Amino acid sequence: MTDCIFCKIISGDIPSNKVYEDEYTVAFLDANPNAPGHTLVVPKRHVVNIFDTDEETLSRTMAAIRKIAPAVRDGVDAHGVHVNSNHGTAAGQVVFHLHFHIIPRHERSEFSFWPKDERAAVDAKTIAEQIRSKLS
Ligand code: 5GP
Ligand code: ZN
Repeated sequence: MTDCIFCKIISGDIPSNKVYEDEYTVAFLDANPNAPGHTLVVPKRHVVNIFDTDEETLSRTMAAIRKIAPAVRDGVDAHGVHVNSNHGTAAGQVVFHLHFHIIPRHERSEFSFWPKDERAAVDAKTIAEQIRSKLS
């Protein structure tokens, strides 16, 4: 994809602090990190997000995340990581090439987890049925 910034990073046309590469996947540091070591893992194949990816691309990317996550954690002496991914503008996706954030977390560091919304718990039975109907 000519206009895609992550495709340009994958091809080397745009520089990045690359930490990992295999046949299917590249990982590099996020240019605007949420924490030191914040890493992005992307498939070499251009897919937009969870809604259009093929299963093989997704599972190859997940396999790379399994390898990279401990290295990110240990590389910055962290204790855990967030593996996060945004799909669609409503969910905060800004770069439309599938990617996963690996963000190191320290035991004593402060971060605000997704706030719970009490109103979201209402109609759980109906909502579960609506989702099940889309899967059948
Ligand atoms: P999204 O909100 O789409 O999940 O996140 C996109 C991420 O890509 C952001 O965290 C942003 O900092 C990162 N990013 C955007 N452009 C570049 C770039 O040119 N190089 C690198 N290394 N990261 C980028
Ligand atoms: Zn791309």
